[in-house]
Amino acid sequence: MTKKCTQCGKEFIIPDGAKAFKTCTQGNRNQQQKRKLKTIPRSEGLDEHLRELKEYNKQNHTHLSYGKFMALREEGLI
Ligand SMILES: [Zn+2]
Repeated sequence: MTKKCTQCGKEFIIPDGAKAFKTCTQGNRNQQQKRKLKTIPRSEGLDEHLRELKEYNKQNHTHLSYGKFMALREEGLI
């Protein structure tokens, strides 16, 4: 099924039933970038990781440090 992109007006193909898609990939990417530049300060990514770390420690009864947590994550171990 095709839909008209709300960002650039191009028709694009979306998977059947995926009504949430409003923009083509390019328009979507532009929108995300804009949103990122506008509203998300750099430190927010860090806060997000800290939140995940706290959550992880709570759920697994561990006491990983932020550095350790990020290292394990990058290696795909957690
Ligand atoms: Zn588009």
